[in-house]
Amino acid sequence: MKYQVPRGTQDYFGVEIEKIDYIFNVFKEIVSLYNFKKIKTPVFEDASLFTRSIGEGSEIVTKQMYTFKDRAGRLLALRPEGTAPVVRAVIADNLLKNLPLKLYYIGEMFRYERPQKDRRREFLQMGAEIFGGKEAVFDVELVEISSKIFKKLGIQYTLKINYIGCINCRTDYTQNLKRHLKKKLKLLCEDCRQRFEKNVLRVFDCKNPQCQKVFSDFPTITQNLCEDCRQNFEKIKSLLDAKKIKYEVAEKLVRGLDYYNGFVFEFFTSGIRDAIGAGGRYDSLVEELGGRPTPACGFAIGVERILPVVKFEKKREGFLIAGIGISEEKLEELADFLRENFKKAFVFRKKKISDALKFASDENFLYAIIIGEDELKEGVYSVKNLYTGEQKKLKKEEILKL
Ligand SMILES: [Zn+2]
Ligand SMILES: [Zn+2]
Repeated sequence: MKYQVPRGTQDYFGVEIEKIDYIFNVFKEIVSLYNFKKIKTPVFEDASLFTRSIGEGSEIVTKQMYTFKDRAGRLLALRPEGTAPVVRAVIADNLLKNLPLKLYYIGEMFRYERPQKDRRREFLQMGAEIFGGKEAVFDVELVEISSKIFKKLGIQYTLKINYIGCINCRTDYTQNLKRHLKKKLKLLCEDCRQRFEKNVLRVFDCKNPQCQKVFSDFPTITQNLCEDCRQNFEKIKSLLDAKKIKYEVAEKLVRGLDYYNGFVFEFFTSGIRDAIGAGGRYDSLVEELGGRPTPACGFAIGVERILPVVKFEKKREGFLIAGIGISEEKLEELADFLRENFKKAFVFRKKKISDALKFASDENFLYAIIIGEDELKEGVYSVKNLYTGEQKKLKKEEILKL
């Protein structure tokens, strides 16, 4: 029997995994500029952590979560997203002492979805969270960081932002929305009828044109903000303007998870339907999960989503060494010398020089060193730059300076 990779997952290797590492490095480099520190949480958690935080009515919890019982009968879930585990960790590990606390994570997430080109059952996400910052600058910082990451990766993006209110204005608004939709429930799709029960704001997430018609004439939450929320949204927009970050206010943008409030945002790029990055504020989640009340906000970027659009050129580096009539010992001696000086070195063992040069080029070596007996006698090596074609005769020590 020949095993296949499980449906909705994939193996990464070759240039693709190097591209992923490159994306991780860009992410780390930029979040570190803002004093974010790394956190790593387990791949699985108590399943109820997600039902409580993401919301029982959300599609993630009802349809997409990988849950299982372990041998002791505990109900566990493979994490479908990264924020709830980080919140669980900062409470459990008592990290909320020096605020604001800024953390970032990189890791696999799992959702049982119908696999598509850019939707996988196991996928990589990188995210960052800020705890203990309630001012608009923190919301803006997240947007700024994301946009810098996309820019550095060569991705053209559009940014959509919205403000979905605080407990006060949201409660008033959702009551009105429910009253409005109650009369039209029959016109809504099954999902929206469930959203109506569990978290009515989420109907705006529905892509069904008939549903959209039902609430298209209904005023959005953004038009019904309380004075505090309205002012805060204005402040965020003015800060974004000052930083010259372009955005579009999308009043239907509500985000699919229950825990969001206040400012929310999503990044898009052409050719990819789903958001490539998204985030927002979740001021009550820490308290909801048993910590002391702590305002918080965060964002995450889907690595597989951006993979096809990231500009990445594999770096040529290292030395391929080949010899004509040269002993293994001599070839190894040069290779070891280079490695001891932290240069990548590889001895090509077949005889034909043309094979050696082809291998070096396929494997992205920057230099080829072809050794003949003359070279050995003179103690100089002919080093060919495979990128420029330039060839030089160099002593061992001079090779290190390349
Ligand atoms: Zn409000
Ligand atoms: Zn619907």
